[in-house]
Amino acid sequence: MKILVTGGAGYIGSHTCVELLNAGFDVFVLDNLSNSKTESLRRVEIITGKPVTFVQGDVRDRECLKAIFKAHEITAVIHFAGLKAVGESCEQPLNYYDNNVYGSIVLAQEMEKANIKKLVFSSSATVYKESAVQPLTEDMPLGTTNPYGASKLMVEDIFRDLEVADKLNNHSLPWSITLLRYFNPVGAHESGLIGEDPNGVPNNLMPFISQVAIGKLGQLSIFGDDYPTIDGTGVRDYIHVVDLAKGHVKAVQAMLNGLTGVNAINLGSGQGLSVLQLVEAFESENNIAIKRKIVGRRAGDIAEYFGSAKKAKKLINWQTELDVNAMVRDSWYWQSKNPNGYE
Ligand code: NAD
Ligand code: UDP
Repeated sequence: MKILVTGGAGYIGSHTCVELLNAGFDVFVLDNLSNSKTESLRRVEIITGKPVTFVQGDVRDRECLKAIFKAHEITAVIHFAGLKAVGESCEQPLNYYDNNVYGSIVLAQEMEKANIKKLVFSSSATVYKESAVQPLTEDMPLGTTNPYGASKLMVEDIFRDLEVADKLNNHSLPWSITLLRYFNPVGAHESGLIGEDPNGVPNNLMPFISQVAIGKLGQLSIFGDDYPTIDGTGVRDYIHVVDLAKGHVKAVQAMLNGLTGVNAINLGSGQGLSVLQLVEAFESENNIAIKRKIVGRRAGDIAEYFGSAKKAKKLINWQTELDVNAMVRDSWYWQSKNPNGYE
């Protein structure tokens, strides 16, 4: 069975290709390489010993999608392709809505024409409204504060409308769409062959810690130690990217086994970890001191959020298997083996 993976050369996509191939699926990757290199896919082939079919193309390119759906028997689509930097989305909103929203519309239209109606979409915990109640469950209020988050929520809403339309039209082949709301993906494949390869100075905590560890960056700035959390630093729900990747395979399998409709599912560990807890885990697991200083809060950050993982267990039989030690160990192994990423 062949799965089309849009954005499959990227960080989460490449790890998902490994898990799909390991589970016996064939993988077809469509990626415009705007934020990735084909080297990641070459390494996916090394890890799995299996081939990946790759086309360089844009998910907004209808003719390209038509040609793929005509030439290949695609069973389901996992849609990672999109832009993901919150700050950049505030500077270039049109680019974000074009890639993330228009891209998803074109994809769904061409899938519908080709009668392929199983889709997994990369959503994000950023679609949740700030909440005093934790953990976040899938039925909690949604609301966003930047164009990136808004683009994810718009696509969720568009896909929810497809379920309504299927019912109104009494469609014989209804959509089955899984909206996976990721919490904070970190880590890398244990081989050290694939991992996160951010452009320039990383915005996210884990790649920043790794680059301090390897000496590319001088010290970590911890954004605030006066939050109402366990130690004053921000709390997030970190999830190992290999667990996240396996969640996609489980979602595809659940849809093949009859999961229908449009289902939003958190992919998180169900637990929060503070910045300091993550830094200290990195230090003790890898035996490396991370130089750091406390600075002011980062604009737009909230104190704490983590997700409930119960619905994922119930609907797609998925839960995390890898703990924080694996996250910090694998992040460091990838960074130390590939100091300049895929270059
Ligand atoms: P990534 O940038 O590593 O991967 C995205 C891939 O999509 C890249 O290979 C890029 O070249 C490709 N791409 C972008 N626009 C495209 C287009 N129009 N057509 C074809 N290919 C295109 O990012 P990632 O971290 O692997 O994230 C994958 C998805 O998960 C994204 O949709 C992102 O918004 C979502 N997500 C990521 C995180 C995170 O923290 N990494 C959290 C929540 C959600
Ligand atoms: N953070 C930090 N220093 C950094 C980057 C992040 O202290 O250089 C903190 C940030 O304030 C937040 C946590 O680490 O509390 C996770 O931030 P990240 O950007 O990785 O994820 P997000 O804020 O999107 O959840």
